[in-house]
Amino acid sequence: MAVVNTTLQLSQERRRLQQPAGRSVSILGATGSIGTNTVDVLRRNRDDFSVVALTGHRNVRLLARQARDLNAQLAVIGDDSLYGELKDLLAGTRIEVGAGADAVVDAAARPADVVVAAIVGTAGLNPTLAAVRRGALVALANKETLVSAGAIMTAEVLRAGATLIPVDSEHSAIFQVFDFDRADTVDKITLTASGGPFREKSRDEMRAMTPELAVAHPNWDMGAKISIDSATMMNKGLEMIEAFHLFPVRADQIEVLVHPQSVVHSLVSYVDGSVLAQLGSPDMRTPIAYALAWPARMAAPSAPLSLADIGTLSFSAPDVGRFPALRLAQDCLVAGASAPTVLNAANEVAVAAFLDRKIGFLEIAKTVEQVLETVNLAALNSLEDVFAIDAEARRRAHACVAAF
Ligand code: NAD
Ligand code: MG
Repeated sequence: MAVVNTTLQLSQERRRLQQPAGRSVSILGATGSIGTNTVDVLRRNRDDFSVVALTGHRNVRLLARQARDLNAQLAVIGDDSLYGELKDLLAGTRIEVGAGADAVVDAAARPADVVVAAIVGTAGLNPTLAAVRRGALVALANKETLVSAGAIMTAEVLRAGATLIPVDSEHSAIFQVFDFDRADTVDKITLTASGGPFREKSRDEMRAMTPELAVAHPNWDMGAKISIDSATMMNKGLEMIEAFHLFPVRADQIEVLVHPQSVVHSLVSYVDGSVLAQLGSPDMRTPIAYALAWPARMAAPSAPLSLADIGTLSFSAPDVGRFPALRLAQDCLVAGASAPTVLNAANEVAVAAFLDRKIGFLEIAKTVEQVLETVNLAALNSLEDVFAIDAEARRRAHACVAAF
């Protein structure tokens, strides 16, 4: 069990931050799906927020447009070959320009009340940690950082007095209905899963699925990597590990429920039989607005939820036979130590290989399984341990991919 947001820390932050008005915000990964949704929410609430830093990796034009539009202090492009282009695009403004991985970390370390961590993959680890280390309120979308380096991250959150507010819709839902003052009265938490685009497909049908079909999620419009993770259901496995680090629960208190409509975003069951859930239209701008305004609330442009129009909500148990990635992640959650780091790294390599058409859809989970079989579990005592294990798992995953 890991307790990142201790009751004390949350209540102190709650007192300090009563209203969102006047808050300063940085977005790491502003040009991605979560990033652009965050920009959209901020644009609609210009008077309440000021923008410190925006970062992107390659989409230099979008980054420059966002920086001008939100009057950011600083814009940083991760790919340093694009420095000159960003500088040209922002010529004549007072916006500072930076480039390269270190500049992204510096942007995260720059004082801002809220840092939205929306980089995809372990590329977000150093920047997110930089924000955590200066005690920021971190609106965390970048789940891979918690999966890969959960114990290190949570220790740093506690040491630095930082606060993690989840942006992932399931974790936002749980955060909103979890009684942190009486965590011992929680029986279990249930993460809902849409089941992804292949929810009803057989293994034989999945074998032939292309990247185009796999990224076409029925309910959510997301970045390529998380879309593939949703299709394999690895996303839900990563989210179980993410939940383990965010909430004071044991691994055996975290369950998954398939709910194709993505309306009930997750549930918390209490010892008296009460089950509390958060519902809403499937639109990430709701959990983003919640994280930006916490502990207050602010308007978000998400479509109002009409249960009368939806009529029927359905639920079923997940099928780990057809979706082995979910089982692999569950096993890694229980195994702990370096297992989630290996799982995450191998999955990142396998998903990229699938998107590059180097392997088939079913070989994503197979790659992860093979890598997990060949490495010994090790303790994670430092960030260096995480990076070493991550690198080794990637090396093995590349070898597996090449052998298919
Ligand atoms: P995305 O691919 O759309 O965007 C990723 C962002 O990270 C972009 O701004 C990109 O420029 C930046 N980036 C990529 N590689 C980088 C690198 N090496 N260095 C610096 N920046 C880099 O991804 P997304 O869908 O917005 O997802 C972002 C994170 O949020 C992921 O961890 C994902 O699991 C999580 N998340 C996303 C959604 C969603 O609806 N999209 C929902 C829940 C959680
Ligand atoms: Mg989610």
